[in-house]
Amino acid sequence: MKMSLAKFSAIVPAAGKGSRIARRLGTKKVKPFLEIGGVPILVRSLKMLEQVPEVSEIIVATAPRHRALVLAMARQFAIRKLRRVVAGGKTRTDSVFNALRASNRKCPFVLVHDGVRPFILAATVRKAIRCFLKDPSSGLIVGRPAIPTIKEVRSGLIAKTLDRSLLWEIETPQIFERETLIRAYDHFYSRRLKATDDAQLAEMIHVPVRTFQCEEENMKITTPEDLDKAGRILDAAEFRVGTGEDRHRLKPWRPLYLGGLRVPSSAGAEAHSDGDVLIHAIVDALLGALGLGDIGEFFPDTDPKFKGGKSTRFLEKVLGMVRGKGFEVVNVDSTVVLEAPKLSPWKKKIQGNLAHLLGLSADQVGVKAKTSEGLGPEGERRSIAAHAVVSLRRKKICCG
Ligand code: MG
Repeated sequence: MKMSLAKFSAIVPAAGKGSRIARRLGTKKVKPFLEIGGVPILVRSLKMLEQVPEVSEIIVATAPRHRALVLAMARQFAIRKLRRVVAGGKTRTDSVFNALRASNRKCPFVLVHDGVRPFILAATVRKAIRCFLKDPSSGLIVGRPAIPTIKEVRSGLIAKTLDRSLLWEIETPQIFERETLIRAYDHFYSRRLKATDDAQLAEMIHVPVRTFQCEEENMKITTPEDLDKAGRILDAAEFRVGTGEDRHRLKPWRPLYLGGLRVPSSAGAEAHSDGDVLIHAIVDALLGALGLGDIGEFFPDTDPKFKGGKSTRFLEKVLGMVRGKGFEVVNVDSTVVLEAPKLSPWKKKIQGNLAHLLGLSADQVGVKAKTSEGLGPEGERRSIAAHAVVSLRRKKICCG
């Protein structure tokens, strides 16, 4: 029997202004919307959560004037789990509380993650979730043992040197049972206390909180220097390229699928699956970039399991492998060779659908259509072909 996944509401406070960064960059954009490597910081954090299967909904708390912007970004980058965008409060605690109230009560667990902490891997968050679920009555926070020597200073004089072996730097996600977090917030607001993170609220009601060591970069982008460092982390990334191609015989009356869409045609691809040559070429390019072989090795056409199979499922599966290895897709370019019907009215739709399937924005997905001028099997309308190139990026994993 398949275990059903535990359900988590992911709460993302993103109401910070970051006016220092904005001043230095001479922009009016607030921190979560600044871009690193061409993608807004908040989108990077949300895309990571999107890839965690246990997360069933995402609630973002942001300034009310940015609500429409967050919704537009979610559409552009295919963040499908975003359920609500609520008003952020004066403090981080207020923002988290507003989002908590708007989250689905049927999700038994809550995971809070800073909107400006974009680098932790979905795989690490899953490990933290698994660790949390071993004993959900206590909370769990991600962090790492402190490296610098830290001293307590009073009126400019050192009062004492803290024992470094006992100190941790605390990051997010911070994970709790919903009921525990609600109780912690009730306690906090009823007594007008002060706190800087969710774990501190749990401590106040004597709920044990465990730590989970994050091995990779999980910086919070707070200062202009952080933004520079974030850029350097991306610059130090490893890049991969893959190519793929596919060709299928055309048969009258078969449906024609391209990029996951059905395109009206008097003939379609003869295939074991739905014969989506464009997706097959992209899947091969993704596998090629990872050095994993080709589509036939993973979805053999001799396996009855894949008969009539949807190619979009193949793509989903392979994207999971890409992400599992820590890569993200940077862009995809492709060409379909087909004599008829003319694909020009369909190119934009196919591009949009592929972008949606790949979790990319449309300008990261190229879809070109060509005829073969009557030459060769495509030109003679006997077949359809597709070519694809993909590029992948994996950030270098580093600490500190
Ligand atoms: Mg094929």
